[in-house]
Amino acid sequence: MQDRTHAADAEPGDDVTVAGWVHELRDLGGIAFLILRDSSGKIQIKFEKDEMDEALVETGLGVARESVVSVSGRVEEEPRAPTDVEVVPESVEVIAPADPELPLDPSGKVDAELSTRLDNRTLDLRKEEVQAIFEVRAEILRAARERFRAVGCTEITTPKIVATGTEGGTELFPITYFGREAFMNQSPQLFKQLIAGSNVERVFEIGPIFRAEEHNTPRHLNEATSIDFEGAFCDDGDAMDVAEEVVRAAYEGVAENCADQLESLGLAEEFSVPEASFPRLTYEETIERINATGALEEPLVWGDDLPTEGEKALGEEIGSHYFITDWPSEIKPFYIKDHDDDPEVSTGFDLMHPRMELVSGGQREHRYDHLVEGFEQQGLDPEQFEYYTEMFRYGMPPHAGFGLGGERLIMTILGLENIREAVLFPRDRQRLSP
Ligand code: ATP
Ligand code: MG
Repeated sequence: MQDRTHAADAEPGDDVTVAGWVHELRDLGGIAFLILRDSSGKIQIKFEKDEMDEALVETGLGVARESVVSVSGRVEEEPRAPTDVEVVPESVEVIAPADPELPLDPSGKVDAELSTRLDNRTLDLRKEEVQAIFEVRAEILRAARERFRAVGCTEITTPKIVATGTEGGTELFPITYFGREAFMNQSPQLFKQLIAGSNVERVFEIGPIFRAEEHNTPRHLNEATSIDFEGAFCDDGDAMDVAEEVVRAAYEGVAENCADQLESLGLAEEFSVPEASFPRLTYEETIERINATGALEEPLVWGDDLPTEGEKALGEEIGSHYFITDWPSEIKPFYIKDHDDDPEVSTGFDLMHPRMELVSGGQREHRYDHLVEGFEQQGLDPEQFEYYTEMFRYGMPPHAGFGLGGERLIMTILGLENIREAVLFPRDRQRLSP
């Protein structure tokens, strides 16, 4: 395949071999066209039935859509062709024929259910607008990585097979590890803290988290990508700054480098980077404002978790990203630090997109005694977490961080309806393969 030319690179006068998928066949009688598609775009192949070798015409026009073919010939200018050029073939080879019955139509003329699309991802990804999502996903992860590097973070990867969970016994997938019970990790939380407490100070990780969520919602996966940050000598305000920077960097990356993809997705006009300085509301202000929307039958009181309808109503009113700070300590995990002057209020924060939660973070409890007490209060056995708590006895600086849901970021940036669209092979209650 060394001498293969991509469709987009074919110039009039060139002798080329192009190879790709049969996107469309158009037979106009004496003349017929095969539209060949590759990763760079499409190119028209012209067949003049009376003037060309019969076997060549038969091969070119007898092939089923989505078959893989290789075509060698001369590129000519043709203003009526979609890309202003066409190939006049000298030879056509069918490299991999496709079954004429396709489970979904990659030309996009016939819509397919999401489950059919996910069952046949290879075919689904042949659609420009689907491929665009994953090009954007790659750009978002690249931009996030670059921004973390720019603020002095080292990229780490931590174990996904673990002995204990972080948020209690629920939501964990148990596995068997050489005859012992182990779990798929639901968050890199404890590991990233252990590294922030070393000389490395500032770390980030982009990796999978596993959550045995019982509910099947449009914004929950059982395997998701978490974008995590942890920084020594940081407080909750610093962590919020980094969260905002990374989210904005993702938008900026997409705006700068994904113009074609935004076009394919029909977003070119409306796409914009959110303005800096996301508003910061305390939890108390948040519940007051949610109550004032009238969206809930029962008004919220201090200590309640925020119901989805409440978040949505407030999101619509605010219309931009915003932080919720100063959460009640009792509804945040044990590793979140409480305010020194009021232990009922924590340094935990969430970053919200108008549609949903994107980030949870906070300053961490770095004092050994307080940490162990917190375990007990949350009904966890501190002994099980000794590998973690022990390190807090040997010089653990104050630190803060957050976890940002990668797919939720992609989903909100692109306005996708279902989080599964942002994952190549999503894992949910029903879906374990492909
Ligand atoms: P939610 O309340 O929306 O279920 P959470 O508060 O349980 O989320 P956290 O433990 O705070 O989630 O995780 C940090 C971030 O990771 C979330 O803000 C979200 O963006 C993402 N996240 C968490 N669980 C999932 C999941 N099951 N699927 C996709 N993303 C998730
Ligand atoms: Mg959360």
